Amino acid sequence: MKEIILIKNGELALKGLNRSSFEDKLIKNIKHRISDLGNFEFTKSQSTIMVDPLDEDIDLEEAVDRISKVFGIAALSRACVCEKNFDEIKKTAEEYLREQLEDANTFKVEAKRSDKKFPMKSPEICRETGGYLLSKFNHLKVDVHNPDVIVTVEVRDKYAFVRGNNIKGAGGMPTGTSGRAAILISGGIDSPVAAYMMAKRGIELCAVHFASPPYTSELAEMKVMELLKRVAKYSGVITTFVVPFTKIQEAIRDDCPEEFFTIIMRRIMMVISEKIAKEQNCSALITGESVGQVASQTIYALGCTDCAVNMPVFRPCIGMDKEEIIKVSRKIDTFETSIQPYEDCCTVFTPKHPKTKPHIEDVIKAENSIENLEELISDAIKNVKKVIIR
Ligand code: ATP
Ligand code: MG
Repeated sequence: MKEIILIKNGELALKGLNRSSFEDKLIKNIKHRISDLGNFEFTKSQSTIMVDPLDEDIDLEEAVDRISKVFGIAALSRACVCEKNFDEIKKTAEEYLREQLEDANTFKVEAKRSDKKFPMKSPEICRETGGYLLSKFNHLKVDVHNPDVIVTVEVRDKYAFVRGNNIKGAGGMPTGTSGRAAILISGGIDSPVAAYMMAKRGIELCAVHFASPPYTSELAEMKVMELLKRVAKYSGVITTFVVPFTKIQEAIRDDCPEEFFTIIMRRIMMVISEKIAKEQNCSALITGESVGQVASQTIYALGCTDCAVNMPVFRPCIGMDKEEIIKVSRKIDTFETSIQPYEDCCTVFTPKHPKTKPHIEDVIKAENSIENLEELISDAIKNVKKVIIR
């Protein structure tokens, strides 16, 4: 039996004149994600994309799993291709969907007929297919409101397709249709979730990670790379920059009042990230911050962090509880990696009593006591390590 993958666009349908270029972008993203599995042919038709595997031995299950994580897709399914005559169609439904129908108690049939020359109209296709399946699977009942299995028959110009239940797509907008932004990624729970949430809105990601060896270890960095790999299953390629941060952190420790350590460190992270982001054609920064989670995330501290840069800073987790963030991290399979107990540069030299209501004038004054800050920043950027995550 010849199988294909049918993909139903998500929000794309709403985008009027932009629709075609959005669809092209979506197809490009899908191609990218499955090209190493074999050769495929892509066809657009109405708001469906057909993915036709051209090689014999393609792992369709893996292809479906990967495509189910591509943003811009509402739903997808495997479908069986058959000749456009009703005898073939009903037998295909029986054989192809046997397992699903045997496991189900109820079903209904839906039909779509884009070939208006086909001798049966949609209601007749539904009725006849339904009757045939009832005669073959005695335990089944029809339920038009809430069936276990929806059998869909589509009669198109060249072939007919038969399919069972849809798989839910990842939703959102195709990556790359909303510009580029840089995620400040730590090894924690929140920033991978933030990255995923913005990528879902069509933003292409690059990532910046600050490492402070020997205070932070090689393992901590590997953990961040593993997290990014998991996010990349949704977002596609993430160009990542690891910034050597030790000297800057030591300068903060040596030159600034302890209560401002974290807030100054966060400001400098933003400044460096903004410079890298500009280089990378990004128009915004993203962090995993959430109001009130820690001292550096009070609205006063966030205000002091924000004004270190001119780019917009997106914080998609800002109003979420930890529980809610964890729920997303489990869904995208980053949680178990995030909770591995490796150190982050944010936990190096943490003050005992951080200021929760810092005044920006005091922060800037404290920051200015680092004499060679400009030089330290440009040194750090010069020594950035670039890693392509896919
Ligand atoms: P997360 O769970 O994402 O680590 P968190 O609640 O632990 O967040 P912080 O450690 O204060 O919060 O960090 C706040 C945000 O700062 C993170 O969400 C991330 O965007 C950024 N950040 C923290 N540490 C780093 C780092 N080493 N490199 C890059 N960005 C970082
Ligand atoms: Mg953290």
